[in-house]
Amino acid sequence: MKKIMCIISVLMLSGGFYSGSAMAENAVVGDINGDGIFNSSDLNLVSDYVLGKIQFSENQYYSADINGDGRVDSFDLVAMRKELTVADAELPTGKYIGKSEKGIRRYNFFEGGGNYVDSSTGIGSAFAWEINGNNVTLHIGSADNTTNAVIEWTDENHFNLIWENGIIEKFSPESAELPTGKYISESEKGVRYYNFFEGGGNYVDSSTGIGSAFTWEINGNNVIVHIGSADNTTNAVIEWTDENNFNLIWEDGTVEKFSPTRVEVINGITYIDGILIANKSYGLRADYNPMGLTAETQKAFNEMSAAAEKDGLCLCVYSGFRSYSYQQQIYNNYVSAYGKETADTFSARAGHSEHQTGMAIDVNCADDSFEGTPEALWLAENSWKYGFIIRYPKGKQHITGYKYEPWHIRYLGKETAGKVYRSRLTLEEYLGIDSIYR
Ligand SMILES: [Zn+2]
Repeated sequence: MKKIMCIISVLMLSGGFYSGSAMAENAVVGDINGDGIFNSSDLNLVSDYVLGKIQFSENQYYSADINGDGRVDSFDLVAMRKELTVADAELPTGKYIGKSEKGIRRYNFFEGGGNYVDSSTGIGSAFAWEINGNNVTLHIGSADNTTNAVIEWTDENHFNLIWENGIIEKFSPESAELPTGKYISESEKGVRYYNFFEGGGNYVDSSTGIGSAFTWEINGNNVIVHIGSADNTTNAVIEWTDENNFNLIWEDGTVEKFSPTRVEVINGITYIDGILIANKSYGLRADYNPMGLTAETQKAFNEMSAAAEKDGLCLCVYSGFRSYSYQQQIYNNYVSAYGKETADTFSARAGHSEHQTGMAIDVNCADDSFEGTPEALWLAENSWKYGFIIRYPKGKQHITGYKYEPWHIRYLGKETAGKVYRSRLTLEEYLGIDSIYR
């Protein structure tokens, strides 16, 4: 019976996508404790056996007879130690990203071999290690059509694969690049609102409002996202496409793309992901003056009020555009009447009112008597279909900076309003911004 270590075993493999099962079905020689790998714990068991401290089962005895002479003794111990030294010293394990002229490849190195997936094509290959003296060779392909690479360690953590055609793939466990902050992704998984922070993050599905938390696992230079319980986990791998943009590549092949929120300041006006923002954090210039509701806003409102009329309801513009100076007058009056702190909960300081954008409307009135009216309920349910959102929802004062205003709507266009509506988030949450006077 010829016995060889698993790590120097099988040249296998098709060029196609790695199936994952062939390797697992092979019993691992030297795996005395049956945990699927051959390592120093197994060595310790053989040592204990040789010293007469423990007994072996028939299978353990067979696994421990490394040199195949029918006995388990100190010669097997020496052989195991030698193989473990080679394996520990020379073979990487874990997930790495290789970048070279071959493109970006996501590698998974494990006992006996590994596999990789090409980032651009999604096509993968499996490979096996061959250890020959101190040389470790990686084989990819069938027996008659094999590509080989030699592993070269440049220090104890960094290694290269040097391919037959001279291409060098470099691997290093550099500190993993982790995204932080809020992102929106749109993919086959739908629209999801992500919040990434140290150690993990969470997301909310926009259509169901249901969220999940996840944790990071850093393995090699690869970051894996885990969602779910121990026995029901879904994983994704983070792939940075450049220093600001990244993808999450899920096990089912879905790719979610992430780009940072785009903040542009044009002539003193802040646009976030193309949306003009006026809140407590972002102000407007005193001379910003669209001279009334914007044409789009007016047109959308007309369309909406016509639809409401069919439902027997009357919607009218109680307050639309307000200039900087008019807002200043209103705000100062409120401050005189209620004090600054209270005024700030319902009235914007000049330059911070959404009414100055020409895209905000107070419908029918601007006081609490509007709450719960058929018009208020209709607006809450339908205004997004015409491009508006209820800008200051109930219970969100700590986020928007304003108390609940069921009458105050903001025009965003139908597409964006629909997304914000379905997200059940405030505009601040949707864009990942705050609303605080600084
Ligand atoms: Zn208003």
